[in-house]
Amino acid sequence: MSKVKTDGKMLNATNKLKNEMGRHYLAIEQAYREGKPTAWATAGTPVELLYAMDVQPMLPENSATVSAALSKSQNFIELAEDEGFSYDLCSYFKTNVGAVLSNAEMNVGGTRKPTFMLSSDVICDTHVNWFQVQAERLNVPHFTIDVPHVVSNTTNRQRDYFKKYIAEQLWELLDFITELTGTEYNPEKGYKIALNSYELGKIWQDIYELRKNIPCPVSTRDTFGGLFPLFTMPGLKSPIRLYKKMYEEAKERVDNGIGALKQEDFRLAFMGIPFWYNLRFFSNLEKWNAIIVFETYVYAFSKFANPNITKEIVINYPIETMAELALSFWYIYDLKTRFEKLKETVKDWKIDGIIMHDNLSCRPNACGMYDLKRKLMEESDIPSLVITSDMNDPRKMNETQVLNQIESFMEILRKRKKR
Ligand code: SF4
Repeated sequence: MSKVKTDGKMLNATNKLKNEMGRHYLAIEQAYREGKPTAWATAGTPVELLYAMDVQPMLPENSATVSAALSKSQNFIELAEDEGFSYDLCSYFKTNVGAVLSNAEMNVGGTRKPTFMLSSDVICDTHVNWFQVQAERLNVPHFTIDVPHVVSNTTNRQRDYFKKYIAEQLWELLDFITELTGTEYNPEKGYKIALNSYELGKIWQDIYELRKNIPCPVSTRDTFGGLFPLFTMPGLKSPIRLYKKMYEEAKERVDNGIGALKQEDFRLAFMGIPFWYNLRFFSNLEKWNAIIVFETYVYAFSKFANPNITKEIVINYPIETMAELALSFWYIYDLKTRFEKLKETVKDWKIDGIIMHDNLSCRPNACGMYDLKRKLMEESDIPSLVITSDMNDPRKMNETQVLNQIESFMEILRKRKKR
């Protein structure tokens, strides 16, 4: 049991996140005012290329989380269900359908009609189907990037082929945008934006490196929300400044032995998307002096975790880099690779147990979770708990039940510490 000096709370720098997100929404408003091209993009698409082509991105998943945080998502989801979309479909998708149907303002998660839509199946096929539906409803063009999945027996030759296949589609995307907007790809601008994105991802990873320390200087209060610039603004300078401030403050805590909790007894990992309508739920963990020190979902969006992608490669081959990143994304890992990655993470971040979110909205997140749990326990003696809920639909969260499960899990972890 480690004693720490004081309560670190949320980082001061994280409060500036609101300004950063405000900047993003202002840029969208401005794009509409000035008649600039805009695009909806799904998570996992190379948003950097939109910035490089002077297209203002909007991410409906990000907007859906805003609706959830403001307790609006259920209403939007039910509107979509009234239209015939099933109770079991992804709640981000249904939040977006409902928000568009009700002409919701951006500050409650609305997303305006774009010039075009950009999707990819890098994370899930829902993304492609979602934009297919909405592109038809709003009558706008839709470009989708097909990403083959690397599995444990994919050969290097196949992987090289996949990379060329994706890169070719990215060049086609640039042609598609030129045709729609008249803007030509400028390699100079392209590499600068790729470099900013690289820097942003790397600082985020540096913050995670600091979280390996005991006590952990940064909690989910900083990371769940802190994720959004990685998602919506990769390639811009301003979020880099914010992350640097977060890093410096976290480093100061480490240097002074200050943790984000007054007392840190248990270190946990969280796998999956959090419940955006109930983020305060995570403070319940403090009752057991437990802190989440690693979130697979949040870390995944720092993208540049592949050690083969160096700064020089990013500068010289920005398009090929984007193709490589699509192949290195956490979500496309098979069970064996997920297991290996989690095992390493547990060791490096000194984690006592993993909470896995069996997300009713999301097959790519939930698929194989019970196999993973069993394998982690049987082969590596790593305990985990599967909780069932949904990231955007509060009807699917039973807080009392989940808390009871966590309580039992913490008891197991306590007994293991005494062994
Ligand atoms: S929550 Fe899951 S299913 Fe829905 S868009 Fe995200 S990855 Fe796809």
